[in-house]
Amino acid sequence: MKLSIVDTHAHLDMAPFDKDRAEVISSAKNAGVSTIITVGTDLESSRKAIGIAENYSGVLATVGFHPHEAARLKRETIVKLAEVANHPRVVAIGEIGLDFYRNRAPRTLQLQALKWQLELAAEINLPVIIHSRQAKKDMLTLLHDWTSSYKQQSGQPRGVIHCFSDDVETAQRYLDMGFFISFGAYIGYPSSGHLNNVIRSIPPDRLVIETDSPFLPPQSYRGKRNEPTYLPLTATVLAEIRQVSLETIAKDTTQNAYHLFRRPEYQQKKAES
Ligand SMILES: [Zn+2]
Repeated sequence: MKLSIVDTHAHLDMAPFDKDRAEVISSAKNAGVSTIITVGTDLESSRKAIGIAENYSGVLATVGFHPHEAARLKRETIVKLAEVANHPRVVAIGEIGLDFYRNRAPRTLQLQALKWQLELAAEINLPVIIHSRQAKKDMLTLLHDWTSSYKQQSGQPRGVIHCFSDDVETAQRYLDMGFFISFGAYIGYPSSGHLNNVIRSIPPDRLVIETDSPFLPPQSYRGKRNEPTYLPLTATVLAEIRQVSLETIAKDTTQNAYHLFRRPEYQQKKAES
């Protein structure tokens, strides 16, 4: 079987890809990664992401300010983000969130930046890509307020919790709010055994996969640059943990990714199956 999977989170705009971006994208395609979502982390990075998505048919972009960059996000910048988000290759607002582990921006500014960008996503009706590190309590409260104040068309995904590494109860609360859960290569690290329960608890129609390239490479490439080409390794680990076939993981996560990002492929595949 020819694999066809979607990398729902990569940073192709970043400097480690400057020398060989075209090769990285074509190598991923050959490895069965049919679509790559390249994720913006500030205004400049979001513009670069759109540029890449314009140049490569298998790449789509998202726009947003990462929590590390939150201190640089001003009210006026939201207007500019809204402008770039209007581009036809843009499929989500992200990545946005809270990182109380690294705390590269003051917490109050992270919270403000997240609120503004959640409002923007609601206004222009796009799903969100959420980064949450050691910020579970605030994140659950904020997203609960957001999902209850902004009504969504029924069955339409709210967004995705990227690089999920929390427990079953927390996952359940995000699922209840309409979010998808995304896992990366870190699920195969020797220290990640505690995640097996949560990985098994996610319903098959809410699961997506990602590389977070150039970060978090698979175990066999640790210390090196990660790239979308390695995504099949994560799909394989996920299949082992969930005790289903690789084909099942590929089919489900691909369909879910198209659903999450509201792509026409979702309706097509639904009609086929
Ligand atoms: Zn990221």
